[in-house]
Amino acid sequence: MDIVFMPVLVVLIFLACIGACIGSFINVIVWRMPRGESIVFPGSHCIKCNHFLSWFDNIPFISFFLLKGRCRNCGEPISFRYPLIELICALLFLISYFSTPSSYLLGTQWLVIIFSCILASILLSLTILDINYFWLPESICRFGVFCGLLLSFIFSLNLEENSSLFAEHFFASILGYFSFSLLSKVAKKILGKPALGKGDAKLVALIGSWLGFYGLCLTVYLAFIASGILVTIGLFLKRIKFGEYLPFGPFLSICTFLVWSLGNYFWYSKIIAFGNLFLRT
Ligand SMILES: [Zn+2]
Repeated sequence: MDIVFMPVLVVLIFLACIGACIGSFINVIVWRMPRGESIVFPGSHCIKCNHFLSWFDNIPFISFFLLKGRCRNCGEPISFRYPLIELICALLFLISYFSTPSSYLLGTQWLVIIFSCILASILLSLTILDINYFWLPESICRFGVFCGLLLSFIFSLNLEENSSLFAEHFFASILGYFSFSLLSKVAKKILGKPALGKGDAKLVALIGSWLGFYGLCLTVYLAFIASGILVTIGLFLKRIKFGEYLPFGPFLSICTFLVWSLGNYFWYSKIIAFGNLFLRT
C-alpha cells in the first residue's frame, strides 16, 4: 500500500513510536559498545543492581516518568539521557517523513522515509559515541556505507533518470574517504599532532554514499563553518581551552542530516546569501 493513502497523522504517530523504540536501542548501543558488551544479550537491566527490567519498566520515554526517574528495585536515579535520546530519535523519525534529499526526489517516497530513519539512527549513534568517547566505530560506519549504497542502487535500478546514481554515490564515498585521509595526514604533518580522527574519514565515506558528490561537499563545508563558529564562541566564553580536542563527528553528522532533509539547493542558496552579506559590506 502506498503511504499516500494512509492518514498522515497515523503515519506520524507510528514513526514517532518506532523512533522512540530505536532511540531506546541506541541507548543500549552507546552504553555497551565501548565496554565491549553484546548489544543483544542480556536484556535491559539496572546498571547498579542488575535488576532486569520488565516490559512495563522498559517502555521508551514513558517508563522513565512512571518510575519518576529511579530504578524500581534499588531506587538508583536513572540518567535523564535515556528519555532525551529516545525523544531526539522520535523527532528525527518525524523529520524523516518530510525529508527531501536531492538525490532521491524522483522515485518511491516510502523507501526514502525508511532509509531516512536508518540514516538518522546511524548518525545519532555516531554523534553520541564521538562526543563521549572520541570514537566512530568502524562497524557502524561500514553498515552506514552499505545502506547508503544500497539505496542508491535500488533507485538506479528503478528509474532510468537515476541510472548513474549508484556510480556517483559509490565514487563520492571513495573520494571522500581518501581525500579526508590525506587531509588528516597533511594536518598532522603541519600541526605535529593528530588533528582529525581516523574515524572522520570513514564517516565522510558514509556521507558520500548517502548524499553523493555535491551533498558531500556541502556537508563538509557546513561542518567546518559550524565547528569554526562554535569553537570561536567557546573560546570567547572560555568554555573551550586553546588546543583542546573537539570531536568533529557530531558536526559532520548533524550537517549530513540537515543536507539530507532539506536538500542541496536549500543550503547552496543559504551559503550564497551568506557570502553576499560579506561582499556587500
Ligand atoms: Zn537498580
